[in-house]
Amino acid sequence: DHFDALGLSEPLRRALAAHGYETPTPIQAQAIPTVLTGRDLLGLAQTGTGKTAAFALPILDHLANDPKRAAPKSMRALILAPTRELVVQIAESFGKYGKFTRLRHTTIFGGVGQGPQVKALSQGIDIVVATPGRLLDLIEQRLVRLDAVERLVLDEADRMFDMGFIRDVRRIVKLMPKERQSLLFSATMPKEVEHLAMEVLRDPVRVAV
Ligand code: AMP
Repeated sequence: DHFDALGLSEPLRRALAAHGYETPTPIQAQAIPTVLTGRDLLGLAQTGTGKTAAFALPILDHLANDPKRAAPKSMRALILAPTRELVVQIAESFGKYGKFTRLRHTTIFGGVGQGPQVKALSQGIDIVVATPGRLLDLIEQRLVRLDAVERLVLDEADRMFDMGFIRDVRRIVKLMPKERQSLLFSATMPKEVEHLAMEVLRDPVRVAV
């Protein structure tokens, strides 16, 4: 049970070593090999279990090793999360684990001016971490396109439901290519989240920690 056994490529193993990570947490050990195969995943996991790395590492691995198929400036991975704090935290993780890749990430959230976010997007971003409301806003203004998204993560789906974001999430998902890998994480699995999972995920592997 070492990260080296999970099948991640060298730039990611190097970043993990640089941060002193040696042993994957249970959600990482279960999710990473599955996500690397391209399967969809339903993860029942709380914050603090290492779930961020469980999705960030295999997504970074895919993007770093699979050449871009679409337009060079288009977003390839989208992570939706309920709050600005969580968005910032997830983006920091992508920066940390992806530091030996050349992938670029940015954040989108409400409550601040959209100018800097739009400018960052226009510079060519591989990975976007966003709250649903502001992202939808930018999509409606035609400042963001989702047609090249290959990887989708819905993080803390139960909190997105509690905060009233599920409608926005559904609208965003409808705008994405059907050919994609989708991952959904939630600490609890109320009926509404289960329904969302059934709509968004295709034959998912279920992991619970
Ligand atoms: P998360 O549940 O994704 O919010 O992660 C919880 C905390 O554990 C974060 O501060 C991570 O940096 C840290 N962490 C995640 N995975 C590992 C690991 N395999 N070894 C050591 N620390 C980790």
